[in-house]
Amino acid sequence: MDCPKSPPCCLVASGTKPLIFRALYFFLMINPAADRENRLVIVTGASSGVGLWATKALLDLGYKVVMAVRDTTRAQIAAAALGLSAKKLIPLTLELSDLNSVREFVKSFRNLNLPLDALVINAAIYKPLLKEPEWSAQGYEFTMATNHLGHFLLTRLLLEDLTNSDNPDRRVITLGTVTANSSELGGKIPIPAPADLGDLAGFEQGFKDPITMANGKLFKPGKAYKDSKLCNMIISLELHRRFHSSTGITFSSLYPGCVADSPLFRHSFPAFQRIFPWFQKNVTGGYVSQELAGNRVAQVVDSNEFNASGVHWSWGNRQKKNQQQFQQQLSSKITDLATAEKVWDLSSKLVGLN
Ligand code: NAP
Repeated sequence: MDCPKSPPCCLVASGTKPLIFRALYFFLMINPAADRENRLVIVTGASSGVGLWATKALLDLGYKVVMAVRDTTRAQIAAAALGLSAKKLIPLTLELSDLNSVREFVKSFRNLNLPLDALVINAAIYKPLLKEPEWSAQGYEFTMATNHLGHFLLTRLLLEDLTNSDNPDRRVITLGTVTANSSELGGKIPIPAPADLGDLAGFEQGFKDPITMANGKLFKPGKAYKDSKLCNMIISLELHRRFHSSTGITFSSLYPGCVADSPLFRHSFPAFQRIFPWFQKNVTGGYVSQELAGNRVAQVVDSNEFNASGVHWSWGNRQKKNQQQFQQQLSSKITDLATAEKVWDLSSKLVGLN
């Protein structure tokens, strides 16, 4: 008869199991980091904010972390300032706005000859005050190129590495946001406009100058960020639909809370940067520290409580002590199958994949 409890319990409880299994179980109980010793996670944008603190939390759990960053020296300085040991950190250059850099990053990673256990899609830019659009190395609107297209190519390429890993528990975790989910209040805020890809005319027309927005309409830099995050969340679900059952990889996204004092807001008005954290702490109660947000990301990478695929995790928009995670309902803009297929196909074309 099958043991109703988890396998390690069986190993301990059953007198028939070899001593070595029992010894291994007790070793892992005493030293939980030991079973993560050979596990490796790539974190994009690990040089600051949530990515940096997630790196710390993952190292504390025992993982090796590839810091996928624009500037490896700056990343190493930031890691040292947090007291992180360089022993299990591997800084590698990744400029997400440049598809050639994404391909080079994957080559450099493969040259390390290390198995990949998890990928954290974290890096992002938010430039709400831009007067004119900026353009990526391949000529695409910069925010969409960085936050969505670069990550889309990276994930598609690294799927092979994740699939080849011996670890049965592999995960692709995407940082989503409340402002891209119109099922929640934060996703309905009309400043400058809610996230909305429209009929994807901008994607269809190639997303190059003069096309600046997914819907092909007027450039709104704050909306460009929300749209790119909407694409991140759509793709997380689409990856689940396409690959979860055939590969066993877990695909999920999360909203860690409002990290109102992270460097994400460095391109906003200075007054906003002062008032926003105060407002989130004292008025909405949505504020979470960079450290807590990083811990939440690490839990979603690591814990058995987060092994569901095709879901979006949240701890709510108002933070409460000891608040538990839950699976947040997503808007139809994120879950719609036809939109997801179109975003997948058109993004594949823009990054040069079939
Ligand atoms: P952050 O501190 O600004 O972190 C963003 C990271 O992305 C930085 O390390 C940055 O690198 C990197 N990055 C930017 N452009 C890049 C590029 N072209 N190529 C490679 N890396 C690039 O902001 P954060 O708040 O931690 O944000 C992390 C994630 O959390 C984002 O996906 C964001 O959407 C999400 N999120 C944030 C909040 C929040 O309230 N802050 C809420 C929900 C979700 P550099 O150091 O080189 O600039």
